[in-house]
Parts: sequence; C-alpha cells; structure tokens
Amino acid sequence: GNGLMAGKRGLILGVANNRSIAWGIAKACANAGAELALTYQGDALKKRVEPLAEELGAIVAGHCDVTDMDSVDAVFEKLEKEWGKLDFLVHAVAFSDKDELTGRYVDTSRDNFLRSMDISVYSLTALAKRAEPLMTDGGSILTLTYYGAEKVMPHYNVMGVAKAALEASVRYMAVDLGGSNIRVNAISAGPIKTLAASGIGDFRYILRWNEYNSPLKRVVTTDEVGDSALYMLSHLSRGVTGEVLHVDSGYHVVGMKAVDAPDI
Ligand code: NAD
Repeated sequence: GNGLMAGKRGLILGVANNRSIAWGIAKACANAGAELALTYQGDALKKRVEPLAEELGAIVAGHCDVTDMDSVDAVFEKLEKEWGKLDFLVHAVAFSDKDELTGRYVDTSRDNFLRSMDISVYSLTALAKRAEPLMTDGGSILTLTYYGAEKVMPHYNVMGVAKAALEASVRYMAVDLGGSNIRVNAISAGPIKTLAASGIGDFRYILRWNEYNSPLKRVVTTDEVGDSALYMLSHLSRGVTGEVLHVDSGYHVVGMKAVDAPDI
C-alpha cells in the first residue's frame, strides 16, 4: 500500500459484513498505513466483525449501539486507554424501520421518525463530541449520506429527511470544530447493494436506473467509496470541511433520464 495514512489512528463504525461501505473504507485506510479500531452492533455482528478486524490488524473496540450512550462512552474510554489520541472517525451508521422504507413518507410513524433521526443523525453528533478531546492534533470526521437528502427518491422517505439533517449537522459541526482543526465532511454515495440497502423498496430498480442514467454508466463500489474516503480522511483534503462529496458515478449532475437508456 501507500503510506498516506501512516501514523494515523482511526475509529470506524458501521462494519456489518464485507459488503459494508465501512469495510471498503477500512480496507483503503489500512492499505494506506492507518491503525484502525472497529466496533460491532450486538453479538450477531460480533462474529462477522472480529475476523474482518483481524484481517486488517484492527483493534475491536467492542459492542457499540448508538442508542446506548454507555456503549458509546465505553468505546471512547477504550480508545483513550489504548491510543490516547484519535486522528479520524468514520460514521457509517443508519437505520429506519423497513416497513417505512416503502410507500409514502407522509405515513411515517412518530416512533420510527424519532428512532431514525436518533440512530442516523444524532449519533454523529454524539460521536464527534467524544472524539473532539482525543483529536489533539486536529482530525477528520466523515459520515455517509445519500442523494435522497437533496431530491425525493422513491421509498427513501424518512431516511431522506434524516440525511438532510445529517448533512446540515456536518456543516454546523464543521464550524464548531474548525478552530480545533477538526474537519467534518460527508460522502454522498451512489446506491450499493448492502445489508442496509436491502431494506429499501425496489432497490434493484434504483440500482439499474443509476447504472443507465449516471454519466459513468455504472454504479459505484465500496472500494471506490473507500478511495474517496481516503482523500477526506488524509491531509490531502486538509483545506476541505463542511463538504458533501458525491461518489455516485456523477448521477447528481443529471437532470433527465438518458435518451438512450433502456426501459426498465
Ligand atoms: P450496512 O448495513 O453494511 O451498514 C449499516 C451499519 O449501521 C451496520 O453496521 C449496522 O450495524 C449499523 N447500525 C445500525 N443501527 C445501529 C445502531 N443503533 N448502533 C450502531 N450501529 C448501528 O449498510 P451500508 O450501506 O454500508 O450503510 C453505511 C452508511 O452508508 C449508512 O449511513 C447508509 O445510509 C449510507 N449509504 C448507503 C448507501 C447504499 O446504497 N448502500 C448509499 C448512500 C449512503
């Protein structure tokens, strides 16, 4: 690998399996020489995350459910003990009830609205707050968002509203933490078939639509998101904060279905 991230230590949340975007980012960071800590959400994922962490020589910082602040605090206590400092943080966590990732946004329940916002938005703020005192040499915080924050996408519903709030919180925290040389950015990834995405109604249709209508005429991979994340997490992007970088084969610039796109 290249030494772009040599000497850097980072916490990555959101690895569920080897198809996770967080895994693509972890591989890119490890290959560039970073030391990593991963967390898992619950025992079911522990069995999947432990061997993946081993593959990269990463620390397993334990169970972390972002709705349980004790588990979040425990992760940072462990990092403080093991490393004493932190250079970067990756937040690749989101959740909404599958039953509401179909049909109409207007039918969202209050419970699922609050839970989706808590897990998918507030968690970034809670993590940034705890990372700040450990980022003594400055730092880079990165989250994952989607175009459904900007435009209405079929079935994305409450997640679109949550991603809009997430992108706004990136901008607010960029200002709050900028004085400590901590940068806060997001990558807006194109659709990728992951565990979380499989909950979204008609996801295969969305994948094919992007394939036919994006400038690059294909969908992106987790490795491609990982390489762009490397830019955001390394000194190469040291002048960039509060930014949402689209890694989506250019889909976000397109205003209309391609004239030569097949019917799907
Ligand atoms: P994934 O299922 O592999 O990852 C989602 C992760 O969120 C899992 O590791 C899960 O454990 C974690 N999570 C959910 N609830 C949690 C909780 N309460 N506490 C701690 N962790 C919790 O799917 P992914 O697609 O890699 O998702 C990663 C991020 O990328 C999400 O923010 C997602 O919205 C975003 N994203 C995904 C796509 C896509 O098409 N897959 C596109 C753009 C953005």
